[in-house]
Amino acid sequence: MKSDGRAPVAIVGGGFSGTILAVQLARRGVRSVLIDGSGRAGRGVAYSTTEPAHLLNVRAEGMSALAEDPGHFGAHFEAAGGDAKGFAQRRFFGTYLKGLLTEALASGLVEIEHRPAVAAEREANGWTVKLDGGADIHAAALALANGNQEPEPLRGLDAAGSRYLNNPWGAAARTAVAGLARTGGSAMLIGTGLTMVDLALSLDAAGHRGRVVALSRRGQIPRAHADVQAAPVAIADVPKRLRALLRWLRKRSADAGWRAAIDSLRPHSHALWQGLDPAEQRSFLRHARAWWDVHRHRIAPQVADTIARMIADRRLEIVAGRIVSAQAQDQCVEVEFRRRGTDVTSRQRFDYVFNCTGPLGAIGRTRDPLLRNLLDDGAIKPDELGMGLEVDERSRVPGVHNLWALGPLTKGRFWEIVAVPDIRGQAAGVADDIAKELGG
Ligand SMILES: Cc1cc2nc3c(=O)[nH]c(=O)nc-3n(C[C@H](O)[C@H](O)[C@H](O)COP(=O)(O)OP(=O)(O)OC[C@H]3O[C@@H](n4cnc5c(N)ncnc54)[C@H](O)[C@@H]3O)c2cc1C
Repeated sequence: MKSDGRAPVAIVGGGFSGTILAVQLARRGVRSVLIDGSGRAGRGVAYSTTEPAHLLNVRAEGMSALAEDPGHFGAHFEAAGGDAKGFAQRRFFGTYLKGLLTEALASGLVEIEHRPAVAAEREANGWTVKLDGGADIHAAALALANGNQEPEPLRGLDAAGSRYLNNPWGAAARTAVAGLARTGGSAMLIGTGLTMVDLALSLDAAGHRGRVVALSRRGQIPRAHADVQAAPVAIADVPKRLRALLRWLRKRSADAGWRAAIDSLRPHSHALWQGLDPAEQRSFLRHARAWWDVHRHRIAPQVADTIARMIADRRLEIVAGRIVSAQAQDQCVEVEFRRRGTDVTSRQRFDYVFNCTGPLGAIGRTRDPLLRNLLDDGAIKPDELGMGLEVDERSRVPGVHNLWALGPLTKGRFWEIVAVPDIRGQAAGVADDIAKELGG
């Protein structure tokens, strides 16, 4: 099935999305080859962390990888002595995923190819995927699960030099964290969302006691989970136009509490998103997204406590503002920034500056060679908002034979498709669709 052989399904990307698709296909008796060039197949970016302080941001009871068995991870966590209502370490979840992949590999229905896919060509009966180094994989169907795309270097940071780290997940960032912990040096984190939280936790856990400034336009940080009484709502009772929906959400937050109000929309998020017209979707992204993200994607209470402690100890300052300029200096970066609502700028030196703004928001600017090749070839197109790929309700690329995409690549269509509880359902649906298409 490897080089120059034929696999029914080629899956590009061995993070959560691709791994669970391979697992689901194997459960339907369909063979696949999982192509991942990162060396972390079976875990992906989120679950390959080795840092114990990195906790899941969803309770264990909600983190099953298998749509057909929603309690699967919760039971697994409890069997290991955890509490299904609690928050497991992300590395523990990574080991769970790896276990599911190992079972699928043992069935003989899944193989792994540890090389990046650099191009794909349509054939009469399917696809040829070209791997780095020259080998080809021929497959009847192709599934793209390339995941979140690396952020672009930030504007205004061009002169920041080598102490500016654009990829907060890379080896250079890990080395910088260890160096900062050793020297007590200072760090600026650009972005105040989940990526900032992760990096702040890594610094704290490494023993860093120096100064950290985290800056974003609004200075909003993720809120904490808490035990709340669920307040489910029927979709028929939720307004479909954006302004009315936001008004409804404010009122319901006042009545039932904001956590319950936001959670009540979860089962309806795909339908509500797809019911908005593109102008409303753009307006949501421009005006409401920052608010939505910090309330919807909440952090474990223990994590929130650590962040609060860092702030109280004046080791972490959250700033609402904008970068004006950044200049490499001798072994540091001098950053000029303006606080929101003022004309006053501050000039401060940091030993390191990290881009924590999160994944690339415009798929057209991806540097992934395979996605670039398929975009340039016209086989795939950006969705209307330009965030991800155009796919239909079944996650198929419209008008192209046997091509699917899943996970964050499909967020333009589904919006809430970046967390495990959403992707697992999509992966099971795509596996059904592929099995049907291939006559399985
Ligand atoms: C730090 C972090 C923490 C998170 N925590 C949670 C959480 O607690 N709970 C929750 O529900 N969700 C969480 N999420 C969200 C969610 O689980 C992830 O977004 C999800 O795992 C996405 O998986 P993926 O497989 O689509 O992408 P990724 O994990 O990014 O995996 C994609 C893989 O594809 C590979 N790849 C890409 N292009 C190619 C190519 N051309 N050839 C070969 N390989 C390629 C990459 O190297 C990578 O290994 C978190 C996300 C992040 C980033």
